[in-house]
Amino acid sequence: MADVLIAGGGPAGWALARACARRGLATTVVDPAPHRPWRNTYGVWSDELPGLPGGVIAAAPAATVAFGTREHRLGRDYLVLDNEGLRTWLTGERVRVVTGQAAAVEPGRHGATVVLTDDRRLAAAVVVDASGASRVLSGGALRGPRTEQTAYGLVLPAADAERLGPDAAVFMDWRGGGQSFRYQLPLGDGSVLVEETSLAHRPGVPVDELARRLRARLAAAGLRGRSAFAEERVRIVLDVPLPGRGAVVPFGVAAGLVHPATGYSLATSLRLAPRVAAAIAGAFEAGPPAAVRAAKRTLWTPEARAVHSLRRHGLHALRAMPPGEPAKFFDLFFTLPPAAQRAFTSGREDLPGTAAAMAKLFRAAPPGLRARLAGLRPVRKEHG
Ligand SMILES: Cc1cc2nc3c(=O)[nH]c(=O)nc-3n(C[C@H](O)[C@H](O)[C@H](O)COP(=O)(O)OP(=O)(O)OC[C@H]3O[C@@H](n4cnc5c(N)ncnc54)[C@H](O)[C@@H]3O)c2cc1C
Repeated sequence: MADVLIAGGGPAGWALARACARRGLATTVVDPAPHRPWRNTYGVWSDELPGLPGGVIAAAPAATVAFGTREHRLGRDYLVLDNEGLRTWLTGERVRVVTGQAAAVEPGRHGATVVLTDDRRLAAAVVVDASGASRVLSGGALRGPRTEQTAYGLVLPAADAERLGPDAAVFMDWRGGGQSFRYQLPLGDGSVLVEETSLAHRPGVPVDELARRLRARLAAAGLRGRSAFAEERVRIVLDVPLPGRGAVVPFGVAAGLVHPATGYSLATSLRLAPRVAAAIAGAFEAGPPAAVRAAKRTLWTPEARAVHSLRRHGLHALRAMPPGEPAKFFDLFFTLPPAAQRAFTSGREDLPGTAAAMAKLFRAAPPGLRARLAGLRPVRKEHG
């Protein structure tokens, strides 16, 4: 019987597996394809993960810029992760790996048993659901239309991508007044990811529509996308509910760790994993229910819940903005001091910092936008 069994071998599941193993807990990861490479292009702010090993970083762009109606040089560094390096780092501890698909969990007196789709049964003191948006053991896949961030990207030779702008990470480029923006990342191997991103819509703007917009953007710059090395399709649910009661500890996207207004969760999962493992290890002798409770308390502290509801308010305001307004809003956002920007994007338990950043934005906003930020204007009809 394992001390900790983690369903889901994505980056969050593996981050927690590593942290649990380092605490001396006998840890198992179960995933239908445990060795399948991670394909998503992951970006993080370097201040979110200080001390990240060099092998985990694919590129550290010399500059990070954003455009609302004008250019902003950001006072924070952005990193592109090396997925193979990330996996090597996270899987370096002794962890048992089971190839299989979790289907259900049966709570028992000494922990819980995970039942796989082929009827195998795996018992553990603490069961973790790190299956992403599938939430296989903690509520199931989300039903109905969700608020989503969607994107379509192409990986281009750097020489081609230069036609779109200078060699820098472009966190967002709203120029042109459209409803989606350009995200651009040098990948560190002579290629550049250029992505057309819809920040937040319910339901998400179809990825094929974003592909059409990206091709139009590239064509306007004299590029037809023929030279693309690869494509990337993104769909991130932004309104994942917070975990409810139950005998399972959710983690990663499954635990609602997605920032509702940005879609990011990876850095949060990597940062939280050692704390959650410490909570499990610290309460382990008191029995499985105590360990599960300790893990859940660590994941969603009162401060984290309060910040989450402020972030959701931000998401609501973003969804309410008519075309052209996001560019003006992000001009204000990127004029905030870097510490205030960091508080809003990354200060998951920083309630005073998040509230102060939002108050600063509110004070700086012109009257129409201010009403929208206050939630006094309804969400516009969504059409992408
Ligand atoms: C193209 C793309 C780019 C992205 N870029 C970023 C980014 O730059 N920064 C960021 O923070 N986020 C980004 N995201 C969001 C990203 O998905 C998450 O941050 C990250 O992958 C979540 O990790 P996770 O481990 O929680 O979930 P996932 O990565 O979704 O992993 C879930 C794992 O659970 C496994 N699983 C599913 N069902 C079962 C089952 N029944 N039994 C056992 N295992 C199961 C899956 O095989 C998978 O391995 C991006 C997403 C996409 C699609």
